[in-house]
Amino acid sequence: MHDRHVHSVFCLHGSGRRTEDILLERIEAGASRVTFTEHAPLPPGFDDPSPLRDSSMAMEKLMEYRAEILELRARYAGKCDVRCGLEVDYIEGYEEPIRQFLDQYGELFEDSLLSVHFLHGSCVDFSPEEFERLLSEQYQGDLEALYRDYYRVVALAARWDGGAHKPRRFGHLDLVKKFRDQFPLESDKANALAIAILPDIAAGGMGIEVNTGGLKKPCREIYPAQPVLEAAKALGIALSYGSDTH
Ligand SMILES: [Zn+2]
Ligand SMILES: [Zn+2]
Repeated sequence: MHDRHVHSVFCLHGSGRRTEDILLERIEAGASRVTFTEHAPLPPGFDDPSPLRDSSMAMEKLMEYRAEILELRARYAGKCDVRCGLEVDYIEGYEEPIRQFLDQYGELFEDSLLSVHFLHGSCVDFSPEEFERLLSEQYQGDLEALYRDYYRVVALAARWDGGAHKPRRFGHLDLVKKFRDQFPLESDKANALAIAILPDIAAGGMGIEVNTGGLKKPCREIYPAQPVLEAAKALGIALSYGSDTH
């Protein structure tokens, strides 16, 4: 099994475990290949909206992170094939600095994810309180409008010209459902909104991941939901597996 979405000690909102302990846990879970995909530094000028300012690693840590993963790759050769990647944020309005970052550093990271965590400068997955604030401030409480807007941004990300090192697959495609226990939108409706942008993903040559991290989140469901996965498969969109272990 190849787990292609794993975080490290460089994640500020993670468990704080050593990267090697996280790797050992993934090997124990049956992974013969592990791709570390730490949250890439946010683009200059973008203020981390998470109240704890812990969304991603600082730019100064980037090479230290890479060095640690390469060290583990060497140490575990023959036992587990360790790869080094990033989880890169697509943030509407910051395409230029994100592309500059990828142009400069992308080739050092062989297998990365593109994720949408931010909408209108807010974090959709930080907490129910932050989600509620976004919902009322930007969408007048209209949950379907928020979902629709989330997928509008994902579609933009899919078609974005991010250069030669743009990640080729999306992380947790329907992350916007994370707090659906408190902010429920009918599943069929929510899934239809995700399915509607799959052609953009196919057109952008992007894959998506089957992210089991969602099972432990308030939504208690994989990202993306099964009907979305089925529709993606029918369109020939490549699927990868990721535990999103932190
Ligand atoms: Zn994370
Ligand atoms: Zn993520």
